Amino acid sequence: MKVKALRGMQDLLPEKQAIFRHITSRVGELLDTYGYRQIGLPLLESTHLFARLVGDSTEVVQKQMYTFEDKSGDNVTLRPEGTAGCVRAALEHGLTFNQVQRLWYAGPMFRYERPQKGRYRQFEQIGCECFGMAGPDIDAEILLMLHRIWASLGVTDDVNLELNTLGDTAARKRYSDALVDYFSPKSDQLDEDGRRLLKTNPLRILDSKHEGTKALLPDAPTLTTFVDDEARTHFDELRRNLDQMQVPYVVNPRIVRGLDYYNRTVFEWTTDTLGSQGTVCGGGRYDRLVEELGGRSAPAVGFAMGLDRLALMLENKFVPPAEADVFIVSEQVARPQALVVAEKLRNWRTGLRVVTHCGDGKFKSQFKKADASGAQVAVIIGESEIQAGTVTVKPLRGQSDQQTVNESDMADLLAQCLE
Ligand code: ATP
Ligand code: MG
Repeated sequence: MKVKALRGMQDLLPEKQAIFRHITSRVGELLDTYGYRQIGLPLLESTHLFARLVGDSTEVVQKQMYTFEDKSGDNVTLRPEGTAGCVRAALEHGLTFNQVQRLWYAGPMFRYERPQKGRYRQFEQIGCECFGMAGPDIDAEILLMLHRIWASLGVTDDVNLELNTLGDTAARKRYSDALVDYFSPKSDQLDEDGRRLLKTNPLRILDSKHEGTKALLPDAPTLTTFVDDEARTHFDELRRNLDQMQVPYVVNPRIVRGLDYYNRTVFEWTTDTLGSQGTVCGGGRYDRLVEELGGRSAPAVGFAMGLDRLALMLENKFVPPAEADVFIVSEQVARPQALVVAEKLRNWRTGLRVVTHCGDGKFKSQFKKADASGAQVAVIIGESEIQAGTVTVKPLRGQSDQQTVNESDMADLLAQCLE
């Protein structure tokens, strides 16, 4: 029997991996420029952490977690998201106590869902968490930063910011009760999930993809009327900030987010280019989360973006770098010299991609490989070059002829060819 990858688990072949790397390095560089510091977090955490922080009644905890008992009988879960672990780590190391933190993380998350394009069981996220800042200014800065990130990735025109406020706990509760009053008499028109959510997490009904449920939504009470004054002011201030910074958005009162812990600001960046897997980034404020985990209360806000979906959006835009800039073609006897020359070239110019031919192969087949590598230029080293202390430099993409020069003049010649 052939062993294949598990359902929903992707192999990222080099072309695809290059896109992920591009996204991660671009986003990482931009996060640096806003004062964020990267934090590394375990993939495996106590199951209890997610049940408690993400919420027992959420789809993620109820249906999507990879949970098992480890060899010592501890109940553990492969992280389905990054916030819970980040808050746990921040608390454990005293990072939230009386201080401001801007943290980010990157890496795989695991959710047992129905795999389809843009939805996998292992997927990559980059997320950030900010602690200790309660005002709308940090919410605005985050959205401004994301706006810049999309520009840097070249997807500004493909994404839209949808924004909402959930109000504070009491408002959320009043609204939740109103939804129960509205949906209960119509529960036969909901699907099974909807009826379950009516008891466990009524706000999530607004997110439903079920047609019968969606038909009931236009007449359902809207959150807006329930939001308290303080949260309203926070939201108005955020919107003013965004207007001033010229970050476009629409207010969408149906954005409630899937995880239990949000309050006040919530947002999603969505795209029409990926069918129904349209959310590329989601986040918001969760001011009670730190306290929920036993810490002294600290306001918090953050987001997570899905790299797999961003990578799909970049597939036709991003040109991965060639395998090589310089390809070294050599005769078998000149192989040690070829390796030495390659090292010199890597010392000469940082980041230069130098590939040497290894193994057997006539010049003709080596040149085919040089061509396929995308290299601009080949450096040829044969027996005669060794004896004369020279190399032959052959441009692969233009009309110019090859030239044999002293090894000490190689760099100058290459500099011309690589322009
Ligand atoms: P969705 O509504 O698409 O299921 P979500 O609300 O569950 O998304 P979040 O928990 O907010 O997603 O995660 C943040 C981002 O991570 C999403 O916007 C998406 O880009 C990405 N993401 C979430 N689940 C998956 C998945 N199974 N496969 C690929 N990317 C995902
Ligand atoms: Mg989901």
